[in-house]
Amino acid sequence: MLKGKVAVITGGTRGIGYATVKKFLENGATVVLFGSRQETVDKALASLKEENSEWPVEGACPDLADADAVAAQINAVKEKYGRLDILVNNAGISDSTPTVSCTAEHFEKVMSLNVNAIFHAVLPAVAIMKEQGGGCIISTSSMVSRNGQPAGVAYPTSKFAVNGLTLSLARELGPYHIRVNAVAPGITRTDMVAALPDEVIQPMIQAIPLRRVGEPEDVANAFLFLASDLAGYVTGEVLSVDGAMIC
Ligand code: NAD
Repeated sequence: MLKGKVAVITGGTRGIGYATVKKFLENGATVVLFGSRQETVDKALASLKEENSEWPVEGACPDLADADAVAAQINAVKEKYGRLDILVNNAGISDSTPTVSCTAEHFEKVMSLNVNAIFHAVLPAVAIMKEQGGGCIISTSSMVSRNGQPAGVAYPTSKFAVNGLTLSLARELGPYHIRVNAVAPGITRTDMVAALPDEVIQPMIQAIPLRRVGEPEDVANAFLFLASDLAGYVTGEVLSVDGAMIC
């Protein structure tokens, strides 16, 4: 489904990002994954190469808070492969610090990674995609971007911003054949969720109409669809992958 496409996936070392990297590789893409540290990037690459040593995948760890560093890394991908077809903005931190104990610095930290870093990657990607006549940008939102969450405003605020950025960019970039979408996962079995004890996870599952938590692959499938030509007329969409759970 992605044969010949070149993709950059941020937060690709584990969880949803790693599953998406793998899904894209299985579908013929060349992938450059970004992680926060060289060590975790190397670990992810080793694990992917173990699955298939032929997969065209490499990694980098630019500081996503540094717009110049992100631009340099994305421009290096274009230099090496001649194009950039897909940008997946997946790196993010979850947070539920109650507002009464949340500092301004903490709020800014969440917004910096979950929102500003997306913009840092979008800037060089849009320049490349405009020049080559099209492309596709997909960001990871969250189910909390619909109704907020019971405790903590930083995380839902950041994910509402992801949706706003997605919808606005889709309208602005449509004329350049650049599609912009987001995927909004519900509770997904990444390391953090897998570590929760049964007495915490079971009531969560009972609140999910499909009666199971999502798997990273469920979310990766949505990224694959949106990145592929099957979604050629889909832009400005925030696709829920949450088993119909309402947070
Ligand atoms: P995870 O913690 O397993 O992975 C997060 C990824 O982001 C890692 O690859 C990590 O290297 C990267 N990252 C974290 N901090 C970074 C930093 N400062 N600089 C660069 N990279 C950094 O989490 P996940 O659950 O796979 O989350 C991925 C995305 O999915 C996030 O945007 C998260 O908000 C969203 N999400 C997750 C769930 C869930 O239940 N797991 C639900 C809704 C939304």
